Amino acid sequence: MRTITQTKLITYLSIFFTLFYNYTFFVNVIKVYPLATNLGFVISLAFVITFFLTLLLSLVSFKYTIKPLVITLLLVSSMTSYFMNSYHVVIDATMIRNMMQTNIHESLDLLSVKQVLYFLFFGLLPSYYVYKVKIESRGFKSELFAKLKLIMLSLVIVGVAIFSFSKYYTSFVREHKPLRFSVNPTYWIYSTGKYINLTFNSAPLVVKPIGLDAKIVEKSNRKKIVVMVVGEASRADHFSLNGYERDTNPLLAKEDIINFSNTYSCGTSTAVSVPCMFSKYDRSDYSYKKGISTENVVDVLKHTNDIAILWRDNNSDSKGVALRVPYEDYKIAKNNTDCAEGECRDEGMLVGLDKFIAQNKGKDIFIVLHQMGNHGPAYYKRYTKKFEKYTPVCQTNQLEECSQEEIANAYDNAILHTDYFLTKTVDMLKTYDTQYDTAMIYMSDHGESLGEDGIYLHGLPYFMAPDAQTHIGALMWFGEGMKKKVDTVALKKRADKKYTQDALFHTLLGLFDVQTKEYDKDMDMLKE
Ligand SMILES: [Zn+2]
Repeated sequence: MRTITQTKLITYLSIFFTLFYNYTFFVNVIKVYPLATNLGFVISLAFVITFFLTLLLSLVSFKYTIKPLVITLLLVSSMTSYFMNSYHVVIDATMIRNMMQTNIHESLDLLSVKQVLYFLFFGLLPSYYVYKVKIESRGFKSELFAKLKLIMLSLVIVGVAIFSFSKYYTSFVREHKPLRFSVNPTYWIYSTGKYINLTFNSAPLVVKPIGLDAKIVEKSNRKKIVVMVVGEASRADHFSLNGYERDTNPLLAKEDIINFSNTYSCGTSTAVSVPCMFSKYDRSDYSYKKGISTENVVDVLKHTNDIAILWRDNNSDSKGVALRVPYEDYKIAKNNTDCAEGECRDEGMLVGLDKFIAQNKGKDIFIVLHQMGNHGPAYYKRYTKKFEKYTPVCQTNQLEECSQEEIANAYDNAILHTDYFLTKTVDMLKTYDTQYDTAMIYMSDHGESLGEDGIYLHGLPYFMAPDAQTHIGALMWFGEGMKKKVDTVALKKRADKKYTQDALFHTLLGLFDVQTKEYDKDMDMLKE
């Protein structure tokens, strides 16, 4: 039998995998990106898959590991590709768990002739070749050099392919996430890792309480109602309040609001920003694990025992922030009375709040409304016809099919809708002005890219994210009673100062006059 070098074997195998084990993947891709108009992109995908695998294999194959590794990949992938092609299943962590819990007897029941043929031709036969072939020994130095060359080449090919079709890759990664689930063998390898991690590395989560000493120091007869609106993907520079040339805040402009023009987010995605803004950690200190295992400001407010708390969510969920307080899902028509054609409106969250306030008479009230806001890419779904001021709008969630102007039009119409929603929230609070000290705080979770430099949506690593993704819409409104306690004149004067979401934790504690050792006056936006 002839001999082959490690690098050649890796390259041939990667090509073999792309050609013969990814049938389902390419069928799915072509459904979304028809060949007639996307031939170049689909070919580039084949290159990306091939050389991504080359890269992975180069990193883990050595003289003695390459054969067992590759044979395992071939045997398992012949089966995963059989199941994907025949049953259109996704080999995710749950599926692997299912397979692990199936006994041999049940497995034999499933066995079919087709499956045996797959195993024979795509599993055993290529494995036999790998088993028999002699790997050329080139000595450590020249082997390392060859490996590095292959790694560099793979990186360049993957990089060039992605760069040349960057618009397509953006939509591929963001909107067509399920497509990746059928990449063989990378996805099942990923899922196996995830399964092992979930199964063997999930110590029960202990949440560290904070602010158990919290108490309200200023006990007046007038109680407070504070509504915190957590916005979604609204970037500061598309607010007319911040000087945007389009009048996107016509209603808020008529209210006595304080606009914070220079506020920055903690993360570039909902999953990072929302828990971070409510946590006591600042951006440099925050991590997912710290966030999920430490109580947040909502919990601290609860520890006072004097504040009635309610979290209503028209977004994905509270990202772990509202796990220990009353939570209501407003994406479902059962709770949200303002739903049509699969879209529930943010203003539906205001319905029935009067009941909650009445039920908690004699207590301070803290309500969080987590908006759907400007959730992309389907901005055009985020508002009703009466907000369609800027046209033509991008009517698809495949942003690469729209012009930048059409995308911005849809996005700005959604901002107009938020302008309306926030004003309605203020109007609701005004009806309580004689009995309560009221306030609304609005802060978006992160910004959004609208196609500048070919970048769309959000979620880029913070260090490389453009301003559009981190410079956020933020504002406050105070009722007459609250204005006696908050120096709004001074606050307006410093409203253009740079603030970050780190301030929210302390600002909420300050607003409710909560005393606790967790409170830092210097971080409170309302205190000079
Ligand atoms: Zn978000």
